[in-house]
Amino acid sequence: MTLLVHTGHSENVPEWTYPISPEILANNNGYITLANKENLLDSKYAPKDLVEMKLRSVVADDELRKEAAEALERMFVEAENDGYKLYVKSAYRSYSTQNTMYYNRLDKMGYDDELVAYPGASDHQTGLGVDVLNYEWTQKDGMNEKFARTEEAQWLAAHCHEFGFVIRYEADKEELTQIKYEPWHLRYVGKEVAKYMYQQHLCLEEFTEDWQNYIAEYEKLGMTFDELLKVRARPNEILVVDVSEDGEEDYSMFY
Ligand SMILES: [Zn+2]
Repeated sequence: MTLLVHTGHSENVPEWTYPISPEILANNNGYITLANKENLLDSKYAPKDLVEMKLRSVVADDELRKEAAEALERMFVEAENDGYKLYVKSAYRSYSTQNTMYYNRLDKMGYDDELVAYPGASDHQTGLGVDVLNYEWTQKDGMNEKFARTEEAQWLAAHCHEFGFVIRYEADKEELTQIKYEPWHLRYVGKEVAKYMYQQHLCLEEFTEDWQNYIAEYEKLGMTFDELLKVRARPNEILVVDVSEDGEEDYSMFY
């Protein structure tokens, strides 16, 4: 007779109590990458999994990273089921596009009015940021926070987290994001993170500080974050107990 006993990990692993898993925070897929003035993306950074979207749009070629694009497509369907037609205004922007936009605006204004993000600081360069409007606002030249009064913006604010998006630049977070309220700018972070940020009402700057602080505290318990990831990546140990007919027990460990 053979008994299999799952024993879990034998190492002394301090308990992980943060509501988001270490694998998500390891950010290997880049979904929680922070891009702002203090955290500039490299001029050569371009996501490798951009796909073209087939959604109602103001411009011809909208691209987002694959998982974000698929989530946005599901969200557009759900919004339409609820009676709201959404439009894509702007999605992925390369560093060079952002660079051109920034210096065009600077030339036009004569100073940085902060309406166009500095090259490398744009959430659009991540391939996870997208501006979403209703029909009325696609007909206007500029954007402003009055968009928040529309039913479509209210639908987005209430539901986008269900699809893995957050409103990246909230009205009461301007000091932290250093960007004016943009009720149309959605950022894909994945469902678990979006739900947590929505429930805790955190902007991406706050969330980043929040999880980095947690990891610093966690590491004081005696295991580094990298070690934790390695331990968790290993399959659980299995103890095999062979009991022969004469009642002798034979133990072996498998990993
Ligand atoms: Zn935007």
